[in-house]
Amino acid sequence: MSVMFGKAKPCAECNLVLLGVMGSGKSALTVKFLTKRFISEYDPYLEDIYSTDEVVDQQPVTVRVMDTWDQEGPVNCERYLSWADAFLVVYSIDDKESFKGCQLYLQALSLHNNTFRSQTPILLVGNKLDMDRYRQVSQSDGEALAARFGCSFFEVSACWDFQSVQHIFYEAVRRAKRG
Ligand code: GDP
Ligand code: MG
Repeated sequence: MSVMFGKAKPCAECNLVLLGVMGSGKSALTVKFLTKRFISEYDPYLEDIYSTDEVVDQQPVTVRVMDTWDQEGPVNCERYLSWADAFLVVYSIDDKESFKGCQLYLQALSLHNNTFRSQTPILLVGNKLDMDRYRQVSQSDGEALAARFGCSFFEVSACWDFQSVQHIFYEAVRRAKRG
């Protein structure tokens, strides 16, 4: 038996995937989490994976964030389905269509989870909370949809404080570790 002393344990890793229709704020949330800044105009056709070293509950973890874009809902999902440790499905509270769109993602994800008996956690995120006066999706509608698919539910604004955005990404990391 060989025991290696003095060798640092490798950091935990966690892959997060942001899904949702175009314009819901996936990139804004991703950029806010990575840079603490709100960038209002971000290339809508950009899909990329970003990596950041974080400490969540005193545990170092390398968080990779895939900021996706899809033209027509959940197609070509293979690129992220088995890669992901947790999904953040994002809609915009001021846009009913984006809420409808995220249901397609939830259906695709739950089909995947059922088919492969995987328990990849899903977080449903209602973004653009600062647009509350133009709200088209009530908080209880969001909660009900989350309950239907066994997701946790959050409302947030990518242009408000960094902490509440960070909180959601950290919650995704926590859930991924459990799953
Ligand atoms: P994506 O297509 O899902 O990546 O959406 P983007 O992150 O590119 O955001 C689409 C538009 O919504 C951009 O004009 C953003 O500035 C805006 N946006 C994103 N998040 C918020 C938010 O929390 N509040 C407001 N008011 N606008 C937002
Ligand atoms: Mg984007």
